[in-house]
Amino acid sequence: MRASVAPAIDLPRAAPQNIAMTEIFKGSFTQQEPIPEEGIAAALAVLRSGRLHRYNLVADEPGEVALLEREFAAWTGAKYALAVASGGYAMATALRALGVGPGERVLTNAFTLAPVPGAIASVGALPIFVGVTEALTIDLEDLAAKADQADVLMLSHMRGHMADMERLMEICHRAGLTVIEDCAHTMGAAWGATPSGRWGKVGCFSTQTYKHMNSGEGGFLVTDDDEVMARAILLSGSYMLFDRHGTVPPAEVFERVKYDTPNVSGRMDHLRAAILRPQLRVLAAQCERWNERYRVLETGLRGTPGLTVIERLARERYVGSSIQFLLLDWPAARIEEVIRRCLARGVELKWFGAAEPSGFTSRYDSWRYAPSTPLPASDRILRAILDMRLPLTFSLEDCAQIARIIRAEVGAAYQAQL
Ligand SMILES: *Cc1c(COP(=O)(O)O)cnc(C)c1O
Repeated sequence: MRASVAPAIDLPRAAPQNIAMTEIFKGSFTQQEPIPEEGIAAALAVLRSGRLHRYNLVADEPGEVALLEREFAAWTGAKYALAVASGGYAMATALRALGVGPGERVLTNAFTLAPVPGAIASVGALPIFVGVTEALTIDLEDLAAKADQADVLMLSHMRGHMADMERLMEICHRAGLTVIEDCAHTMGAAWGATPSGRWGKVGCFSTQTYKHMNSGEGGFLVTDDDEVMARAILLSGSYMLFDRHGTVPPAEVFERVKYDTPNVSGRMDHLRAAILRPQLRVLAAQCERWNERYRVLETGLRGTPGLTVIERLARERYVGSSIQFLLLDWPAARIEEVIRRCLARGVELKWFGAAEPSGFTSRYDSWRYAPSTPLPASDRILRAILDMRLPLTFSLEDCAQIARIIRAEVGAAYQAQL
């Protein structure tokens, strides 16, 4: 590796352009930061206690899970929060708690990832895909056109891009659509002053390793609705121990629903909660660090011929934990060449246009369990999306270097097309 880059790096008079053509990025796109020491200490205390199950408590000890639920509810401004086993589980639970059942239709984004249509399929329902815009948000015209075909919208803020939420909620309100938000990529983000997860009836979050807090696996469901939360708690496997939760609806609500709500176990345990609580305390600062990295990348990519940067609206308070750009109307072979050349220089780009689901990307029409009708305008955009994670283990200089590499390789491939 070193041998191939040495000449350009070692030559003091090498033209900057020359360096840009040969430098190689050495970081890992899948390496997250360590768990904070405070979290490690809290996890050890849980292990020493032997009480890992959330309902295994002594005397009036609230336990790590209930404390985390209170803290997460406060952090999002929701009345209730339920900590669960995964983000996908939170989404399926939200659908079940709203009474979505087999054969029913659920509107959702065409720009999506496997856990979203998967959650819909897990309750036997069928997705109806809504198109994507060049801003990578849900197409509100298409949503308005399809709004009468379902009772629920599973809105995924894919890759952290939030649609105009005032307009979206107005469309949903008019059509009587209940909104569930998939906030796997927007924990800490907001539209205007209202956090993601707080626009719809239910907000779902993931604390899986590649999201904004890391407990390996985990997730949250937040809502202000008494009955939705009572059902969600029962669904998550509460064995009627719901009074041990961090945020609990009134007992009479449980009385009303407890004989009709099945147990579909997906609880969080004290070990994961112990790891998450210190991370929640620093989440706002972490989001700021992601955005510093995002801005360096965005600035570095802006103005690259043939490359479209995703523009953000002023009301969107995003968390730039990943970055996307478009190579609009490029032939597939050229896009593949860019991916190959960037990879050879250590930069891993994911492509949403690939024919087969791979490396966590997939297309809405990849899934045979979820029939879809073609969306030509969206297909054009999906074919153009390149995607990259920005772990906090990258320095700002790493981000500047990655931008130089992408810029050089996209530029070279674009030139070759002309
Ligand atoms: C990660 C993710 C989820 C939830 O995933 P889990 O792995 O089940 O925690 C949901 N939606 C999207 C878009 C995701 O990327």
